[in-house]
Amino acid sequence: MKTDILPDNPYVLLTPGPLSTTKTVKAAMLRDWCTWDDEYNKIVQGIRERLMQLAGENTEAYTAVLMQGSGTFCVESVIGSALPQTGKLLVLINGAYGQRIVQMARILGIETIAVDSGEITPVDVERLEEYLRQDPLITHVAVVHTETTTGMLNPVEEVARIVKVYGKRFIVDAMSSFGGITIDVSRLGVDFLISSANKCIQGVPGFGFVIAHRDALAECEGRARSLSLDLYDQWKVMEEQNGKWRFTSPTHVVRAFDQALRELEAEGGIERREARYRSNQKALVEGMEQIGFCTLLDKQSQSPIITSFYYPDSPMFTFEEFYGRLKASGFVIYPGKITVADTFRVGSIGDVYPEDMERLVESVKRNRFW
Ligand SMILES: *Cc1c(COP(=O)(O)O)cnc(C)c1O
Repeated sequence: MKTDILPDNPYVLLTPGPLSTTKTVKAAMLRDWCTWDDEYNKIVQGIRERLMQLAGENTEAYTAVLMQGSGTFCVESVIGSALPQTGKLLVLINGAYGQRIVQMARILGIETIAVDSGEITPVDVERLEEYLRQDPLITHVAVVHTETTTGMLNPVEEVARIVKVYGKRFIVDAMSSFGGITIDVSRLGVDFLISSANKCIQGVPGFGFVIAHRDALAECEGRARSLSLDLYDQWKVMEEQNGKWRFTSPTHVVRAFDQALRELEAEGGIERREARYRSNQKALVEGMEQIGFCTLLDKQSQSPIITSFYYPDSPMFTFEEFYGRLKASGFVIYPGKITVADTFRVGSIGDVYPEDMERLVESVKRNRFW
């Protein structure tokens, strides 16, 4: 693919979505596609098949549905389509993305129980079990796999085990982990797993996808509380019309995603990508700790996706100044998103490598002003 006409990025995005993508992914967008033509629909079907291969072993009972919009749109399409009128949702929360699920469920008029563990503790599996034991009206349980708010990797296996003991439908927001951390939907009994184009698959933003158990999806017929976010109808059209989307699809973004999936395969699949992200995160933390920074989370619950650091203990430090200096030297980082401490975040996903992290640490050292 011809990429020499593309300009270089002025900085590396260490922001987990959108993130730094390869030139070949961007170059894949340089032609126009017809949404109902065979050629384009074949790309869509190929993507759906590849996603199934990434979702673990024994995925015959599952299917992939692509949905326009950012990741939140996809989460909302699942919540709004999966819960029946009489349904009751329990959400395990330890950050903004768990909160967001509760917020959308309440807007949709869905009865919801929020089980909040604060911001820096893993989700509470014991309280989950207590609720499920005492409240038979709960029909669905939702959890965020990697809570991007802090970088916490939640104990999704333990949650899955309890949800299955009680026979509930299981929704996993794996937005910032799918493609970068191995997850086996069938083994965990996940009914709906949600992720988006611009995170660990390393595509560009514009759509997301849901990997759904076909039985759970079939139940969604007629349940949707929104026309455009009707997951069941989206699936029906995509399935019966061989890759057609109901409404205009983000064709260029889809083509770039197809390229991103090929590049994930070329890298050696999810295991290899996870290993790279882990190396990135290790290089980042080791370097930052050497120059005096401390991480918010302990190593056990820290994901390889994004890391929160405490502000240095100095009145001279401001995030704005820090951000501006790093940006000018080629790195864009993320502000913190929690209330209990002053933090900033650095992502380790995307087309970035341990060398980039070492360069970042050097740059932090050089730009010290506090
Ligand atoms: C990125 C992300 C989302 C979706 O965010 P959008 O801004 O709508 O793409 C949802 N959940 C988690 C855990 C995320 O990291």
